[in-house]
Amino acid sequence: MRLKLRIELVPKTVWFSSLYKLLPRELWDSIRAEHIRTAGAKCEICGSPERPLFLHEVWKYDDEKHVQKLLRFQLLCRKCHWIKHIGLAKIKADRGELDYDELVKHFSKVNQCPKKQKPIYHGKLEDYDGEIRSGMLPLITEVDGVEYLTIAGTKKDLDFDQHVADAFEVWGERSKHKWTQDFGKYEKYIDKKRMKETVKMHHETIKRERQTKLELT
Ligand SMILES: [Zn+2]
Repeated sequence: MRLKLRIELVPKTVWFSSLYKLLPRELWDSIRAEHIRTAGAKCEICGSPERPLFLHEVWKYDDEKHVQKLLRFQLLCRKCHWIKHIGLAKIKADRGELDYDELVKHFSKVNQCPKKQKPIYHGKLEDYDGEIRSGMLPLITEVDGVEYLTIAGTKKDLDFDQHVADAFEVWGERSKHKWTQDFGKYEKYIDKKRMKETVKMHHETIKRERQTKLELT
């Protein structure tokens, strides 16, 4: 299914290893300025001119060879950008720093998908007298020897939560692997030593934050 605005979760094993983090700041700024000159100062997904606009790195994942390749850049508005990084957005929202509902609304508006899909059926399997058409999402569970059928909806009308769940499933699988990164023509500007240090530093920060959270709870 083609969505205009898709969730793109970066596998855990390549977190922080982005051009934004690794390129010298002046070079990043000039790439951004050049991109705005050619693409225009508006969100390339929803068309919003609202500032701030973020330069997003679009990656392609080869799930067999485990190569993460930089495809292109894309200028995004704040809301579209947070959708791309919905995992981090959720963390921010839980801290009260971001309006998650606003993002859900934006996602469903841009993609013209329902915010919440109405379940088609939930009950005993033997009581269901409709048919299971292609594209429906049926799930059969067994409780105390009785089979229950849930039809969450249809693939055509996937709601936000289901898109998030799908994205996290892909993310979980990809995060099991080490990825070779292909930065294309920007490869030569990356200081590999600095790259390792930057990535290590960020991971340690996360570990420390998690530790502090555990101590507090
Ligand atoms: Zn946008």
